[in-house]
Amino acid sequence: TAQIINGQEIAAKKRLEIAEKVEELKRQGVTPGLAVILVGNNHASQTYVKSKEKACKELGMYSLLIEMPEEITEEKLLAKIDELNADPEIHGILVQLPLPKQIDERKVIESISPLKDVDGFHPINIGRMMTGQNAFLPCTPYGIMVLLEESGISVSGKHVVVVGRSNIVGKPVGQLFLNQHATVTYCHSRTKDLAFHTKQADILIAAVGIPNFIKAEHVKNGAVVIDVGINRNEFGKLCGDVAFDEVSGKAGAITPVPKGVGPMTITMLMYNTLKSAAETLDRK
Ligand code: NAD
Repeated sequence: TAQIINGQEIAAKKRLEIAEKVEELKRQGVTPGLAVILVGNNHASQTYVKSKEKACKELGMYSLLIEMPEEITEEKLLAKIDELNADPEIHGILVQLPLPKQIDERKVIESISPLKDVDGFHPINIGRMMTGQNAFLPCTPYGIMVLLEESGISVSGKHVVVVGRSNIVGKPVGQLFLNQHATVTYCHSRTKDLAFHTKQADILIAAVGIPNFIKAEHVKNGAVVIDVGINRNEFGKLCGDVAFDEVSGKAGAITPVPKGVGPMTITMLMYNTLKSAAETLDRK
C-alpha cells in the first residue's frame, strides 16, 4: 500500500523555519504584516480567514483583519486596498474570495500591488511565474511542490497529469511542474476518456471538487497521487477528490484529506508574507 504523505507534519516543519526567519527579520526592525479583507458573512470564508489570522499570530507576524459588509461598494473596497498598498506595516494583502456580485473580482485582484500580492493571483505575478522570474507563487500549487520536495519525490522528466484547470489550482500547478522539467498534461470537464490520460501519470493531481471522483481505475500502479479536493460527501464528512481507500491500495504515495495539501496552503501564504517583508529590506 501507498506511502502516506503527511501534510500536517511537513507544514509544521516549514512553519518552524518560517517562525525562525520572522524572528530574524524582527531583529532587523521589520515585522511581517498580513492584511486580510473579508467581505460579507460567507461561513467558509470566515473559517479560512480565522485560520490565517491564527497562523500569523503563531509565527510572530502582524495580522490585520478588515471586515466589510456584504453590500459594500466596489469603490470603497478599492479605496481600502489603496490604503493598504501604501501602508509600510503591511507586506501582504489578501482579499478572501468569493466576493459579492456587485464587485468585479478581476478589478480587485489587479488593484493589489504586485509587491504585496501574497496570493499570487495578480496577472503580473502569474506572468512572472510563467516566465520563471521571481514571483509570489499561488499558495496551494506552491504547497504541493513543497510536499513533493519534502517527501523526496523528484519531478524532472516525470509525466504529471493535472485534473482541473482553475486559475487558482489546476492551471498554475501544471506551470510549476513544467518549470521543474516535468511533462504536463491537463485534463478538465471536456476531456474525452479521462482514465486513458490519468493512467499515464507518474504524478496525478486531482483538483476537481467532486467527492471521491478519482478511482483506482484512473491510477497507474505505483503512481504518486495528490488530492487537492476539499469536499463534503453525502454524509457531510470532509473528503477529497480521490477515493482514498481504493486508490491507496494501488498508488505508490498519496496525500490524505484532511492533513494533506490543506495545511500547506496557509503555510505558503505565511511564507509569501515573510518573503515580501524580507524583500522590502532588499529594496532599501
Ligand atoms: P473549480 O471548480 O474552479 O475547478 C474544477 C475543475 O475541475 C475545472 O477546471 C473543471 O474543468 C474540472 N472538472 C469538473 N468536472 C470534471 C470532470 N467530470 N472531469 C474532469 N475534470 C472536471 O475548483 P478549484 O477551485 O480548482 O478547486 C478544486 C478542489 O480543490 C475543490 O474541492 C476545492 O475545495 C479544493 N481546494 C483546496 C485547496 C486547499 O487548500 N487544499 C485550495 C483550493 C481549492
